[in-house]
Amino acid sequence: MAETKYEVVIIGGGPAGLTAGLYTARAGLKSLLIERGAFGGQIINAPLVENYPGFPDGISGAELGALMHQQAAKYGLKTETTSVTAIKAGKRHKVITEKGSFEAEAVIIAVGSEYRKLGVPGEETLVGHGVSYCATCDGFFFRKREVAVVGGGDAAITDALELTQHASKVYVIHRRDQLRAGEVLRKRAMAQPKIKFIWDTIVEEIVGGEVVKALKLHNVKTRKSSTLEVAGVFVAVGLKPNSQPFADVLKLTKAGHIVTDETMTTSAPGIFAAGDVRLASARQIASAVGDGATAALAAFSYLRG
Ligand code: NAP
Repeated sequence: MAETKYEVVIIGGGPAGLTAGLYTARAGLKSLLIERGAFGGQIINAPLVENYPGFPDGISGAELGALMHQQAAKYGLKTETTSVTAIKAGKRHKVITEKGSFEAEAVIIAVGSEYRKLGVPGEETLVGHGVSYCATCDGFFFRKREVAVVGGGDAAITDALELTQHASKVYVIHRRDQLRAGEVLRKRAMAQPKIKFIWDTIVEEIVGGEVVKALKLHNVKTRKSSTLEVAGVFVAVGLKPNSQPFADVLKLTKAGHIVTDETMTTSAPGIFAAGDVRLASARQIASAVGDGATAALAAFSYLRG
């Protein structure tokens, strides 16, 4: 590992982190971005992003992520691929990774969130064998088969709509009788004949040996249990912030979001948070980009007054 001392270390290479990196590097701060996977974060799974300004015909998430990385690198942002395990806050912060430690005068945390699990029997053992968290990645494997989506938010309905391109039938299993998803998606799903809603119902077990065969369901209103035969189940029950490595150092909400003020400053001086991992994020690409820019400007003021 060559260089270990930076003015700014950014953790996370999604839209928030890459924007922060673009701003800090372009402002002349010696900047490193640490990402454990691919640049772009969660958006790399989105086949078409239609609501990010500047691309009237839409753009694939993977392409958008690659362009954001390219733009930041052009202004001198350095990158490392590894996982951050902890931070030690101090006058110079220590960012501890699986490849060793980095020192930074300011840190911007933009680590996003990960898929929330149902936590029912069969879920963990059947991941990749019919249990999936990404319809875009795995929908293709269920051509002309019947599948289920669990959840009632934007992600669940987006997934269900996408799955209708492959599957013969898509059950949406939701624990209430009203969707959390926005009006546009809701109307599209209601008008799609391949989608059937199963309301007021929770999944109690995912059944299968080698592959998923069925779901054991429980209606929370009638208290009746039933079995639904499906070849696949797509879990879309929300996201969990990836804030665990910072829990000892920063103030978090009960749900694990990092508490910041409007300048993205956290409870620790010189540490900033941006994007989905912070409290009250709008969880959109456009808002993550805004957070990243705000955090970078705050870090610049912190370092250069
Ligand atoms: P979300 O909005 O938090 O929705 C999660 C859904 O899962 C809710 O319907 C919730 O039910 C249900 N749920 C939570 N825990 C559950 C459990 N243990 N068992 C069964 N159901 C459970 O999360 P999301 O849909 O992943 O969306 C995250 C953010 O990304 C949102 O801000 C969303 O607007 C955004 N997003 C936007 C788009 C788009 O605009 N195209 C697409 C994807 C995501 P309740 O409703 O009963 O709480």
